[in-house]
Amino acid sequence: MSLREAFQSSGFKIGVELVSTRGTMSDTKAINVRNFSTELIERPEVDWISITDNAGGHPSIAASALGRPILFANKEVIIHITCKDANRNGLESKAWELSSEGFSNILAITGDYPGSGMSGIPKSVFDIDSVGLLHLLTKMNHGIEIGKKKKRQLLSTDFYLGTVVSNFKKHENELIPQYLKLLKKLETGAEYVINQVGYDAGKISELPAFMNHHQLSHIPLIGNVYVLSKFSASLFNKNRIPGVILTDALHREIFKYTESDDKGKAFFQELAAKMLAIYKGLGYKGGYIGGIHKIEDYHKIMDTFHSYGEQDWKLFAKELQYAQNDEFFYFEMNQDTGLVNPEKINPILKSNGTKTRNVNLNYQISKRFHNIMFTEGKGFYNIGKRLCSKSKNKSHAPNWLFGLEKIGKRILFDCQDCGDCSLAEIEYLCPESQCAKNQRNGPCGGTSDGQCEVKDLECIWARAYDRAKYEGNAENLLEHSPVLQNHALEHTSSWANFWCGIGHKKEK
Ligand code: SF4
Repeated sequence: MSLREAFQSSGFKIGVELVSTRGTMSDTKAINVRNFSTELIERPEVDWISITDNAGGHPSIAASALGRPILFANKEVIIHITCKDANRNGLESKAWELSSEGFSNILAITGDYPGSGMSGIPKSVFDIDSVGLLHLLTKMNHGIEIGKKKKRQLLSTDFYLGTVVSNFKKHENELIPQYLKLLKKLETGAEYVINQVGYDAGKISELPAFMNHHQLSHIPLIGNVYVLSKFSASLFNKNRIPGVILTDALHREIFKYTESDDKGKAFFQELAAKMLAIYKGLGYKGGYIGGIHKIEDYHKIMDTFHSYGEQDWKLFAKELQYAQNDEFFYFEMNQDTGLVNPEKINPILKSNGTKTRNVNLNYQISKRFHNIMFTEGKGFYNIGKRLCSKSKNKSHAPNWLFGLEKIGKRILFDCQDCGDCSLAEIEYLCPESQCAKNQRNGPCGGTSDGQCEVKDLECIWARAYDRAKYEGNAENLLEHSPVLQNHALEHTSSWANFWCGIGHKKEK
């Protein structure tokens, strides 16, 4: 049964994560992973094995190398593809290779910022993001035409595409853009969803409620269960893994068990089994177990999970209440059950017109200026269009105008001269200078407490959400997406490009 068929059939499915290692397939670490993988292959109740792509931004052997023996053994494999180390051509090339080898399940992710590399930190790529990657892979699934006239050929793949949602976010302006991005990813071609690691039943219950609310209950949701250790719990608690939240309250609870002889292992395995039960009880299609490296640990968790009664998960959900202080929920929480109440949307979501510090003078002037300059048929639009369309090079406005654009945008937005401007789509925040991953299609999953995982800045998408909400336009924040920046326009005039219909807007 393919993974697509498995996710459409009845029953709670189980997947296990393998983390690829640095070195060749014959090095000790890789041998250990391969041995574990062989044992998982032999377990008929393991529906799939997932393999990470340079997890944590560290270099490692390609996921396909570990995946091949699993594929040959007729077990379903999900290959993770991230955008940090390759541009769109590199990603397309990887996709053709995977398809040629018989891999058909892909998890499309933006990816962590590069964390280590030979002789220092490598340059990150992020030419496209998870939405752009899904757009690319969906196009490949539909068929890409190559060649001319009679030699024209339609080349296609048949990938089953999945995505990740980071739903354990603290602030409204962090969480809602994540949900909007999830909707965009589903619209762009994702067919199943895995949530980020998190340890709060309230937020776990919110995701299926959100999907139901948007008539998306047919999309398989897979619950992420990362089996903790003393070490990983400490890393998560210190926000050392982007986007993964483990609160001080849970960390204090964990500390009681890590002092015991087994360093908390039994507690961690029981917690994982209870989380599987919660996911199953809430209607998730499966559980995705990470953080284990031995088959005995897998058996212990699964035996405990299978020992529970049908309704036990409700009790576990009441125990697993580790939201962050003042964490925002899309739906109101029911304190009796520890789950959200899907009937009650948080009224704050409707409070448009609220002026926050992000709705500042710079924003208001920029918006007004944009309307005068770029509203079709109005203000300066016709003059600008006439001036630029007469030039030989339509991407080059007259020097005085180009100079004005460069100076003005550098002062106001720290413009990096990309020429394919997304300012108006991100509420007048520049993705090139103020976003470490140049995200144009919504936030990556790496923020913590609203802050960027790399730069000491509030996430541009949280700021953009505040501005859009002030205007009563928050729901349409990602209406412009998917955007794939055209690098041919670098150092050209984005104003001229806009007036002459050149760039990503035209492409769309
Ligand atoms: S032209 Fe590019 S670099 Fe300049 S403000 Fe717009 S998005 Fe940023």
